[in-house]
Formats: sequence, structure tokens, C-alpha cells
Amino acid sequence: MNYNKLLTDFQNINSQSEIEQQVFKDNQIRRLLREAFAKSNYYRELLEQNNIEIKTIQSCADLHQLPVISSEIFSKSMSTVSMAFNDIIRYCHTSGSTGTPKRVPYTRRDIENAVTSQARSYLFAGVEPFDKCLCAMTYGPWPSGMICHAAGEIFGLTIPADSFLGIDHQLQSLQRDKLNYIVCLPSLLPRLERHCQEKDISPASLNVRNIFMVGELFSEDFRSHYEKLFNSKLINMYANTEFGLVASECQYHNLHVWEDFFHVEVIDPDTGEPCEDGVTGELVITALQREAFPLIRYNTHDLVEMHKGPCECGHPGTYLGPIKGRRDNMFTINGGNVYPIALENTITATPGLSSFYHCIIEKVDGHDHLTFKIEARDTVDEQGKEHLTQLFYSNLTGSDVTLRMIFLGLEATSRINIEILQPGEISKKSGKVKKIIDRR
Ligand SMILES: [Zn+2]
Repeated sequence: MNYNKLLTDFQNINSQSEIEQQVFKDNQIRRLLREAFAKSNYYRELLEQNNIEIKTIQSCADLHQLPVISSEIFSKSMSTVSMAFNDIIRYCHTSGSTGTPKRVPYTRRDIENAVTSQARSYLFAGVEPFDKCLCAMTYGPWPSGMICHAAGEIFGLTIPADSFLGIDHQLQSLQRDKLNYIVCLPSLLPRLERHCQEKDISPASLNVRNIFMVGELFSEDFRSHYEKLFNSKLINMYANTEFGLVASECQYHNLHVWEDFFHVEVIDPDTGEPCEDGVTGELVITALQREAFPLIRYNTHDLVEMHKGPCECGHPGTYLGPIKGRRDNMFTINGGNVYPIALENTITATPGLSSFYHCIIEKVDGHDHLTFKIEARDTVDEQGKEHLTQLFYSNLTGSDVTLRMIFLGLEATSRINIEILQPGEISKKSGKVKKIIDRR
């Protein structure tokens, strides 16, 4: 892959009619099923156990005949699932932030496709050859750093490969090398903000044009705070270790799916039936071109709504709304469902609170108890903590109807506890923060 081919391929995809795109995907589905049946013992058994003949699956629309699979596939032996066991050249791990870490293998072609998918997101956002980028993703054991770096090199981007040496080094790189893009977890930005404060540096003076955000949820309040602070545009990307980069955001904050690599469905978590356009359900993805570890109808458990295009930005094809969290992170308390993004929105909309928090749910004497531990943005005394506690509680019960009902009920029985922490108590550790901790 090189820049000119990346550009030409993307222009060709965008100029295809809806019918041409559908024919391409249907061909991919038929080829994938044929290969999986021939080369993967796992999928052959899955089809046979469910009495499915592959000739009955001719298109994306027929795919629902196959059962949805989930993370248990990662407990199977690699040689049983793989369609190209002898061609595996790299193994990576998921972070395990939402469960047991999973080992994910890649063939050379899998890596090339993951890099192309990532590079296309840069292209979509307006990155140009010879821009300069801080890649603050780790370079292992999870795949994101290496993939993001290789994608940048297709453009000829300057990317210092030593950014994981820490926040001080990252800030120095931004200044010294005049980097105009950042690829990072959203939780890097509050750390960078605090470090700039300590060094008396204005974040806007860094002249970062775009910040690509991947791997964690963030709220619209978070977006507007950091866009203003850095005088930059934040661009959300939907990616996970299982699939790599699946979708990238346009100026209307819709996540456009790269449909030559992925077929996406949104299903009702209770019935498994497809959701109507715009209805929230679980995201099920089929990787159309994956070889080392084929994933066909894999339930990510990410909660999202899907729309058939085109979007207002003019890009054709399917797009997703913002990810609302994972179903296994959604929790039921006091009779209501709480989506992680609703908590995230409430916390980041409270002036004085950072986006670093733990929400701990426990069962005490048969009742659900809930504890929030939230970092303040600035150092606070006892009076300041009390003020922030009241402000947060008032936001929690003052906006979202579901949250109001749930948390007023908890307050009535003294089963909610809010603890304000000093800056750094959670964020000093790098990497992802496990925000929802359900100990029931
Ligand atoms: Zn769009």
C-alpha cells in the first residue's frame, strides 16, 4: 500500500453506487463462508451443528441464519479457528479492560488490511503527506501503536517512535518536532492538560490541528472542553483489538464504517433480531477479509445505533452513532438500566470534575450500593470536596430522567456514596482506566 493507491481506492469506493457496493459485499460474504467451511474446523462444526448449508447464504441479508458468536471463540485453540494457521506472523493481546485478555493473531494480509483501514481514517480526516504526528498508543502487547504508526508511514508522516517514554517526553516531542496530529486514548488529554499547567505551557500554543481519539468513551462536554483548550478538532475512531479500526468520524460526529472490510449489524440484545435504523442495540461485526482468526457475526456487546446512509457529510454507506458503552458494562440498579455514557456525560458536565472516575457497584446486605470515586480537576480542600459532591449529585438527579429516578431512590435509602479524589489519584497510572466496576 502507498499513498496514491490509498487515495485512488478511497475515491473508487466513494464513487460506487449502492448496488455496486452491495454486490461487492455479497461476493465477499460468499467467499468468506466458502473459505471458513473449507479451512476452519470451528466454523465447519458451527455450520454443521446448526444444519446450515453454505449455499443458503448468498448475501449479507442471509447472514442472520448463522448464530452470533462471542468472546468464547478466543478460548478455542488457534489452529481450530484459523484459516491460515501457518501464515500467522504476529500475535497481540486485548487490554482486558472489559474481561479476560484475548490473544489475537495476524497474517501479513491481516496487518496490511488493518493498516489500510487506519490510514483511510487519516485520509478521511484530511491528513496530508508530510504532516507530523504524535502516536501516543502503546506499541505492544496490544496492536494499536504499531498499526497507527505504520498507517502514518503510508503518508510519509513524521512520527517519533519513542512517545511511550511518558507524558513529559510526549510534550517535548509536540514542541520540539512541531507535531500537528495526536493519536491517543481520550484519557491522555487531561494528563497532558495538567502537565502543560505544571510547565506553564498553553496547550493551544502546541498548534495541534486534529486529535484522533480511540479506545475509550468520551462525552460531548469533554470534546468541547479539549477542542477549545487545544484549539484543535477531536476525531473519534471506533476500533477494537479484535477487528482493528472499523469506523471513523466525520464532521457531523457520525462513525462511517469501512464496508469493504466489515459488515455490521445491530441486534436487539434480548431477542437477537435486527434493530430498526436508529434503535440502540448490540453491534455485531463480520470481518470480511480476516484470515488468521476469522470473526463471522461476532458480538462486540458495544451498544450503538446504526443508520443507512448517506450521511449529511455526503459519504455513502452505513454509519453508526456514538458508542454508548458495552452491554456488559451497562448495569441495572434500582429498576433502571444505566448506560456508561450517561454517567460519563454527567461527570464531565460537572465543572471541577475530571473524566477520571470509578463507579463501584456492590451488594451489601442484599441491597445494591454504589460508590463514585471521582478525581477533581484541581487540588481541593474539604469544603471544595463537599461543594463538588453536591454539584455532581445535583447533576446526577437533575438531567437524565432514568438517572434521576435511579439515584433519587438510592439516596432515599443511603445507598450512594460520592468520594472526591485529588488530581492524579486515578490518572497517574497510564493506559485505560476501568471505570465501571461491578462487584455483585
Ligand atoms: Zn458523515
